[in-house]
Amino acid sequence: MTTVLVTGGAGYIGSQTCKALAAAGYSVVTYDSLVYGHEHAVKWGSFVRGDILDRDRLIETMKEHRPSAVLHFAAFAYVGESVSEPEKYYRNNVLGSFTLLSAMRECGIDKIVFSSTCATYGIPDRIPITEDARQHPENPYGSTKFLVERMLADYRSAYGLKSIALRYFNAAGADPDGEIGEDHEPETHLIPLVLQAAGGTRPSITVFGNDYDTPDGTCIRDYVHVADIAEAHILALAKLEQGEHRPAYNLGTERGTSVAEIIAAARKVTGKPISVVMGERRSGDPACLLADSSLARKELGWRPRYRDIEGIIETAWKWTERS
Ligand code: UDP
Repeated sequence: MTTVLVTGGAGYIGSQTCKALAAAGYSVVTYDSLVYGHEHAVKWGSFVRGDILDRDRLIETMKEHRPSAVLHFAAFAYVGESVSEPEKYYRNNVLGSFTLLSAMRECGIDKIVFSSTCATYGIPDRIPITEDARQHPENPYGSTKFLVERMLADYRSAYGLKSIALRYFNAAGADPDGEIGEDHEPETHLIPLVLQAAGGTRPSITVFGNDYDTPDGTCIRDYVHVADIAEAHILALAKLEQGEHRPAYNLGTERGTSVAEIIAAARKVTGKPISVVMGERRSGDPACLLADSSLARKELGWRPRYRDIEGIIETAWKWTERS
């Protein structure tokens, strides 16, 4: 059985990927500090509590479990906090990734799938966004992910490290079987907040701006189901195992949904009223982010199963009701 080390495996996307890895026949080792992850989300394989900044602990874990590849999710991911506390983000996301790569070199592990983001593009010149679009991050969070992508490219040239960065658009939804789901504290993402408003644990949802240059004035995003993102990691890993690599693939459904459409879909799925407050624009929010994922479809054979927003929200609603 091939063993894979999953940093951040107790988090939202990491834990969903551990489930997919186990289903695909891999032996999984989750490495997570539990700063933001949850031990109850570690349901597949074994668990090591550790920080990616702790080189000795990483090496000890790699020597004990002998993984053939690493899936690297561990990162801080609050855009707003990254603006007010950049040092925290550069330390954890950049220095942490550097420490991980250094430990991998020491242990002779030469394959990594990296959790990247459409935030590395910043405000796009063209929609839909292709992988060769200019990367010009608008906030420290996006910059940290961009820097790690650069690091991977340099390690590839110099040391032969095989890597694939997966640039997620807006990860959404929950495990279709209801075993795991989105559980951030604090929660800042649109869909879980809208569902909290539907469930009555939040009085309303504030829409961040309705004067954008979009059909209904609210921002458009490309929401992609977490189980489809997890599946893309299995395909990327298989590609690395075949000795191939690629700087990056975009992961999105190539369908845009506005904030107003999310709220309308959530009302339909939940059958509940959702009260809306119109607020100011949030700084740094592009009007529209939409993926061109044709490369992932063509080269990885990736076929996202969740193509419509109601189906995605339905899985998230089931999870919200459960938790
Ligand atoms: N948004 C909103 N109200 C909220 C949270 C988010 O109107 O309370 C909007 C936000 O401006 C963006 C979209 O919802 O246009 C998705 O935001 P989210 O934070 O979920 O993801 P992001 O696109 O920032 O990664």
